[in-house]
Amino acid sequence: MMYDQILIRYGELSLKGRNRNLFVDKLRRNVQYVLKDFKNIKIHANRDRMYISLNGENWHSISEKLSKVFGIQSFSPVLKVDRDIENVKKQAVHLFNELNATGKKFKVSAKRADKTYEYDTNDLNQMIGGHLLKNINDLTVDVHHPDVDLKVEVRKNAIYLTCEIIKGAGGLPVGSSGKAMLMLSGGIDSPVAGYLAMKRGLLVEGVHFFSPPYTSERSKEKVLDLGKRLAEVSGMFKLYIVPFTEIQQHIIQHIPENYTMTVMRRVMLQITDAIRNREEGLAIITGESLGQVASQTLDSMHVINEVTNTPVIRPLVTMDKDDIIRIAREINTLDISNRPFEDCCTIFTPSQPKTKPKKDKVHQYEIRMNIEPFIEQAMEGVEIVEIHAGQDMNQEIESLF
Ligand code: ATP
Ligand code: MG
Repeated sequence: MMYDQILIRYGELSLKGRNRNLFVDKLRRNVQYVLKDFKNIKIHANRDRMYISLNGENWHSISEKLSKVFGIQSFSPVLKVDRDIENVKKQAVHLFNELNATGKKFKVSAKRADKTYEYDTNDLNQMIGGHLLKNINDLTVDVHHPDVDLKVEVRKNAIYLTCEIIKGAGGLPVGSSGKAMLMLSGGIDSPVAGYLAMKRGLLVEGVHFFSPPYTSERSKEKVLDLGKRLAEVSGMFKLYIVPFTEIQQHIIQHIPENYTMTVMRRVMLQITDAIRNREEGLAIITGESLGQVASQTLDSMHVINEVTNTPVIRPLVTMDKDDIIRIAREINTLDISNRPFEDCCTIFTPSQPKTKPKKDKVHQYEIRMNIEPFIEQAMEGVEIVEIHAGQDMNQEIESLF
């Protein structure tokens, strides 16, 4: 392949006025991070575009990684050529030869970012198209349904040629919208919620509650594997693991059975909020979806949410399960979530949890149970794992549990 650079288009980013430089800088760092294994590349970003010089690195491997980075609308492998028109024509032929364009239908689409260039777009289309027709066998022009669309972009410093546009992941660069804590279970929903939050530019860190020995080694492995998937999106995923067994046992001993779920959720939210506060995040994300289970009725959410003023972001709140599953499949978390291992909450789920819990009852019960020391102890026991994209988690799991 003769392409020597990748051109990245920012899309929605360009609309962000004064904050643009910040966004571009964030995106550049994120790109640099996911491509850190390609030692020879050089990244150059300006307000409109980002360019990656390949310096011999494999375009296909890089393309695969780039397609997952949020904040990129589209990208193309390009050939950067000198602005001399004879040279442009020659390089276009070169490119068509490389692409085995013989016998194909084609068109040329020129665009001038530099309007002072001596030829306008019509001239360029005709001159380059004509030259290709003369030099490549069996080529035919088809402006409506071309097999090959040669894009010629005239800029101040050079002309860029490309025949491919690859759709990017869209969204905003991870980290450009601030930091939030994701309550990550081993289920289907919360990883999807985390992914969607990342897509809107949030730097997401996970909080997971686990209850050994009621939850098995394999169920922790599951959460780490989910974290690894999310790390592929953001480069690195930080996970806070909260020991939850004693709190759950305490709740079960002191709270009437039909209220244990409500109280347990309130404590989980309270602890997540304390970690968020310590780590200077600005919001909490959950995988809740309205009406899905007893804890997710509006009445339950209202009572559970009472423990904090922190914004709780619920990206899935109005989504149907089918749609959530579809995204989980796309982002490769579904198979992990479907592994049959129990989550701390399912194990302690009462047979008939309250779907309309009463606040005053909850308050009464909570005053009596004296949970604070247990919360403090859990906070002291929090383990932090940093999961890096591409890391082998087996070793990590062994050292942890
Ligand atoms: P999920 O598929 O994400 O587990 P769910 O539909 O099974 O969601 P619940 O089990 O009621 O619903 O959980 C609701 C939300 O509470 C989850 O999406 C997640 O954000 C949070 N949550 C549940 N269990 C845990 C846990 N063990 N650790 C951290 N967060 C949890
Ligand atoms: Mg669950």
